[in-house]
This record gives sequence, C-alpha cells and structure tokens, in this order.
Amino acid sequence: MSKRDYYEVLGVDRGADDNEIKRAYRRLAVQYHPDKNPDDHDAEEKFKEAAEAYSVLSDQQKRSRYDRFGHSGLGGPGGGAYDPGFTNIEDIFDLFGFGDMFGGSGRRQTVQRGADLRYDYQITLEEAASGKDAKIDIPRLETCDECSGKGTAEGSEPETCVTCGGNGQTRYQQGFFSVMRTCPNCSGKGQIIKDPCRECRGAGRVEKTKTLEVKIPAGVDSGSRLRVGGEGESGVNGGPSGDLYVFIHVKEHEIFERQGSNLYTSAPVSFAQAALGAEIEVKTLNGTEDLKIPAGTQTGSVFRIKGEGMPALGGRGTGDLFVAVTLVTPKSLNKEQRKLLEKLAEIEDKDFEDEGFMDKVRNIFN
Ligand SMILES: [Zn+2]
Ligand SMILES: [Zn+2]
Repeated sequence: MSKRDYYEVLGVDRGADDNEIKRAYRRLAVQYHPDKNPDDHDAEEKFKEAAEAYSVLSDQQKRSRYDRFGHSGLGGPGGGAYDPGFTNIEDIFDLFGFGDMFGGSGRRQTVQRGADLRYDYQITLEEAASGKDAKIDIPRLETCDECSGKGTAEGSEPETCVTCGGNGQTRYQQGFFSVMRTCPNCSGKGQIIKDPCRECRGAGRVEKTKTLEVKIPAGVDSGSRLRVGGEGESGVNGGPSGDLYVFIHVKEHEIFERQGSNLYTSAPVSFAQAALGAEIEVKTLNGTEDLKIPAGTQTGSVFRIKGEGMPALGGRGTGDLFVAVTLVTPKSLNKEQRKLLEKLAEIEDKDFEDEGFMDKVRNIFN
C-alpha cells in the first residue's frame, strides 16, 4: 500500500515550521481521537497516520531525509518501509506528551483507558443453534472500592509532588536549551502517595473476579467474537474501562458437520431399503425427521431436509440438513436372509447379462 505524503496528511505546506506542524497534528489528533470516535476504524487509521506523519516531520533529521528521499529515506537498514512501531493509541499519546490533551485541569494526570480482555468460551453445537445465556467468571483489575481508585488510605490525600510542582515534568538547562523530562520523583504523575491504601497498595485498582452474564446469540460459529462494552479492565485516573471480547469455540459434534448455516450428516440404509425405496428416520439437532428415499437410491446419494440446519446469526433464516445415504452390507445373515439373497444372486446374474452389463465391463477394459 502506498503511503500518503506526510505534509498532505497534516495539511501543511512543505515550508511549515515546527509550530505549524504541531498545531496541525494536535487538530487532527483531537478530531480523530479514538475516545471521540469509538469503533470507527477509519478514524483510528487517520489518527495513526497523523501520528506517524508527525513523528517524522517533528524530527529535524527524519524530516530532512524525508524531504530529500521521500518515504524510502526512512526505511531501516534493509530498505524496508518506515514503521514507527506504535502498538496502541496510548503509546502515541505518551510519545508526544499529549496525555492530558482532554483533561481540563492544569495538572498532568495520565488518563488511561483500561485494557481490553479476551475470554475464550467453548459451547456445543446444540448451544450454538439455540443460543445461550452464559455465566462467565472474569478475573480483572477493577477500581479499588476502599479508596475509590485514589490509591490513598482513608483520611489522607495524595500530595502534590514538590520536585515538579505537580506538572509531572521537570525543566533543566542544557547549554542554550531548556529541556523537559518526566519527573523522576513522581514518575510523571504529579502526585505522591505517602499513605497508600492498604487494599490496593496505592495502585488504585485491585484484581477481582466478576461473574458476567453474556447472551450468546443463536447461530454463532467458531471464530465469532462478542464484544461486551465496558467490561474490560477499569481505566486509570478515571479513564474509561476497556471492553471484553468473548471468543466463541464450537466443539466438534459426533454426527454433524457444519459449514456456515448448513449441517451435514450420514444415515445408514440397507440394500433392500435402497433398492425398494423407504422412509428412514434421520437424527436432527432437535430430534428426528422422517426422510423418504426413492427406489434405486445409490450409496452416497445426498438428500436435503429443509430448515434443519443452523439458524443464521441475527435471525435471518435457517440452513438445511444434508443427509448422505450409506449402503450398509450386513455382516452376518440368518438362514432365511441367506436363502433369499442366494435366490436374488441367481436372478441378478441373468439381469446383468440382459442389460448388456458384461458388454459394458468389456468396453471399459478394451
Ligand atoms: Zn513530580
Ligand atoms: Zn485502594
């Protein structure tokens, strides 16, 4: 995939100075921030694209290489495409120190969304067909009840860090430059907890197991993913909770195979049933169905029973059940059966010759 021009991404001209670039990036980052555009994949891509453009154009060295050689000037030693290596949105924010962009207060407090959780859940084919109200136990980090997430013991408050005055960053002079860096005393939080909450030891969150009821809709298949909004881990410093994703695995069934919303099975028939036609009983997911097979049915013939497959997700119709008929040769015969079959064999010899059967066989070998 070819990348867009970084200047074009940020909407600035090639002579733009650092401030213009920074302003342009902030504007895009606010517009496309995932918290403002939940579940909007397009916005997330735009957000990442802007962050990537900014990471290059805000760096004098990278920018001048980009100006001279374009995207290929930024590749690694192997000449590969430039990959800024962002793993998630929070990384992007931390990288540029915009973590407080959406907080109104002057104090820097990194608001973090809680982590998304994945839970693998196995169900039977019958349960996948009917849907299920599942109870699942999820161990996760939740806001500490004892301190309401503040991390401080009762009656005490977090204190403003004296080293940075609550900014979370310290400034020091290096030659002509004034350099900012994360405050080493409070690790950038701007606050110090002297008397930590005993329950969470100052973290503000504790691990708890919560039982959730999750409605698994009829028609799910292996690989179906259910998103339960806000049931992931709690956020940090009042950030929103993550989401819970339930990954569905449908167990293999003894007699049914599934493809989409259709089911496949096989049913045994005797020679007499196949030759004369019969009504046989076929197992379905919900019980049994009678299936008429015509006289002269061959082994491997497939019949369709309408509406006995799986329901489609979202309640749009139901698949069918396909039944492959298998001719079963008896392993042992009683006297009467043997007599009748021998009689049949005698007649068949003639029939085959009458129908020119042996001629056909000869033709195959000639
Ligand atoms: Zn500090
Ligand atoms: Zn606590």
